[in-house]
Amino acid sequence: MSQAFLGLGSNLGDKEAYLREAVGTFTDLQGVSGLYETDPIGGVEQDCYLNIVIELSTERKARELLEHAQDLEKKANRLRDIRWGPRTLDVDILWVENEEVTEPDLIVPHPRMKERAFVMVPLGELAPEFLIEWEDPGDGEVRRVKDW
Ligand code: ATP
Ligand code: CA
Ligand code: CA
Repeated sequence: MSQAFLGLGSNLGDKEAYLREAVGTFTDLQGVSGLYETDPIGGVEQDCYLNIVIELSTERKARELLEHAQDLEKKANRLRDIRWGPRTLDVDILWVENEEVTEPDLIVPHPRMKERAFVMVPLGELAPEFLIEWEDPGDGEVRRVKDW
């Protein structure tokens, strides 16, 4: 069994419903962070996001988790148009115990996670050790809405 963390976000339609639907599909779910409302980053004009981080205790490798993530995005009718633009569901593989992957379509640990308070703050609820030596970049507000 390996520990793994995934970051989920939505900023289109019934955002919380998209997150709940996605979380419900993980049979290896171990924990869910609080629900966060966060300002969009990346310069594209768009609505705020809802973000969570989930913890898995899993037999699956990062590659299989990516396949699951992409199935979920497809099921949520995510359209791939603008990078970092609005989307019904985004599922990123953040970190998988004992795995380092550098391939064209999969990099783990996620290379941009430390630049993002909307990832690190919920991740820190589940695994405070990730916050050691982490400095909040301070761009974009991260508001905890409620417990999951
Ligand atoms: P960012 O990766 O900066 O958060 P994004 O989530 O908006 O941006 P997407 O359009 O969702 O980017 O994904 C682009 C590609 O990133 C996907 O097709 C996927 O193959 C690849 N990818 C690479 N590493 C990962 C990872 N750790 N988790 C999810 N996707 C990844
Ligand atoms: Ca992302
Ligand atoms: Ca993504």
